[in-house]
Amino acid sequence: MRNQRATQLLFELSHPGRGGAVLPACDVPQQPIAELIPDKHRASARPPLPELAEPEVVRHYANLSTLNMSVDTHFYPLGSCTMKYNSKRNERVAGLPGIVDLHPYQPESTLQGLLHLLYELQCYLAEIAGLPCVSLQPAAGAHGELTALMVAAAYFRHQGRPRHKVLAPDSAHGTNPASAAMAGFEFVTVRSNPQGFVDLEDLDAKLDDDVAVFMITNPSTLGLFERGMRSIAERVHAKAGLIYLDGANMNAILGICRPGDFGADMMHFNPHKTFSGPHGGGGPGAGPIAVAERLGPFLPTPVVERVEVGVPGASPAPPQQSVWGGASLAPGTRALAADTQTNTCYRYRLAYDRPESIGRVRSFFGNTGVLVRAYAYIRTHGPEGLRRVAENAVLNANYLLSQIKDVLPVPQGNRCTHEFVASAARLKAERGISAMDIAKRLLDYGFHAPTVYFPLTVKEAVMIEPTETESKETLDAFAAALRTIVQEPAELLHEAPHTTIISRPDEVTAARKAVLRWKD
Ligand SMILES: *Cc1c(COP(=O)(O)O)cnc(C)c1O
Repeated sequence: MRNQRATQLLFELSHPGRGGAVLPACDVPQQPIAELIPDKHRASARPPLPELAEPEVVRHYANLSTLNMSVDTHFYPLGSCTMKYNSKRNERVAGLPGIVDLHPYQPESTLQGLLHLLYELQCYLAEIAGLPCVSLQPAAGAHGELTALMVAAAYFRHQGRPRHKVLAPDSAHGTNPASAAMAGFEFVTVRSNPQGFVDLEDLDAKLDDDVAVFMITNPSTLGLFERGMRSIAERVHAKAGLIYLDGANMNAILGICRPGDFGADMMHFNPHKTFSGPHGGGGPGAGPIAVAERLGPFLPTPVVERVEVGVPGASPAPPQQSVWGGASLAPGTRALAADTQTNTCYRYRLAYDRPESIGRVRSFFGNTGVLVRAYAYIRTHGPEGLRRVAENAVLNANYLLSQIKDVLPVPQGNRCTHEFVASAARLKAERGISAMDIAKRLLDYGFHAPTVYFPLTVKEAVMIEPTETESKETLDAFAAALRTIVQEPAELLHEAPHTTIISRPDEVTAARKAVLRWKD
């Protein structure tokens, strides 16, 4: 049965004169509006807004909201996107009045608590990345890529030898080539071998002195940890190029290994994937980046700096001495230790005085609400907890892989990290059932669809990422649904989903010429 609620627009439900509030009669002298606001600033007619009573509005939106699938309502194995359940606790923390009532134009001296928090977040991300200098500014993962590539460009310009090319493997996320192009680089694809790893011969063939950055997603979108990582890093570094680590898959390696230790010079985090930021709907997001020390000076402004202001009771230390910049964070050092083991007092500042900086990439100092959630997530889990997140994400993915590989083969093998890419190519050849048919039919079974047709290197790709927050029962139910679906008649699958308000819109037309009206 299709869900028939919320099928009309508010405009269609409108009744002239109806409203959500009744105001008492005015008890002060009234003045004609024309005397208060000059003609040229007044609209000639009222805006054509719908007029409804409050319960009508509430029901409309409450019903609309039930047409969506979300991590709060359904299993959401959308590969590459890490749609794990986000604990409500972090929402509450980010909504505390001391956070949400702040204004970015407040004087810095009244923002010390928030700046302290952001500074610590910079330190945690530096430690998780194994890269000492952090910018919290970028507004999404893709924006982090763009920012880091602009940092790389500035670095090479500063050395007096600008470079023009960015390389990435063919399994890369579409944002990698897009970011490279936006940052003004020529983008060159490096082939993957049949096992899904970077083809080192092809890399060698394309690597020259004009390559600024090799972008790599590791673990890759195929859910594989790049076996040749060390060798790739050596080759790129031998040509004085930089390695960019697309950190979308950090959920697989948190606390287990650090990009900076396996060769990365720059990376982004996706807090909405890894650290419980709200996800989807186009934002708001954040995409902090971490970079090697030599790239630190080029980061966008402002960065949050900590300034020592002395030890209580001792003679005051000279102010303005910055301890941020990375050198104090030796690999493996716990960033907080320095704070708690001494009685030193600090104040925090937004540093704009960075002459090599690429400048601003976003208003104010980043998407604070998302960053606070990331902070809460990291503090809640601690180093051991973050490691368990990754271990359980990998365990869940391998369990699910083992449950479904006989009905949907996984070309790149029997083991994965946090996600894996199955293929419907055989089903398509034998029975005409596509990855899209399976994805759409899963909606009828109460599961959000996996990612399909990405990465491009796998035919009829069905990319599944269960995440660590799902129970064995959920994974079993999902595997059972897939087993049932692949037995169903092809005609039924071609028309799926059968239980949603709209079945199969033409996706391109739907995106380009949205018709937001329900027609029976
Ligand atoms: C999600 C993702 C991105 C882009 O991140 P956004 O935060 O969505 O901009 C880049 N690379 C990979 C591999 C991703 O999964």
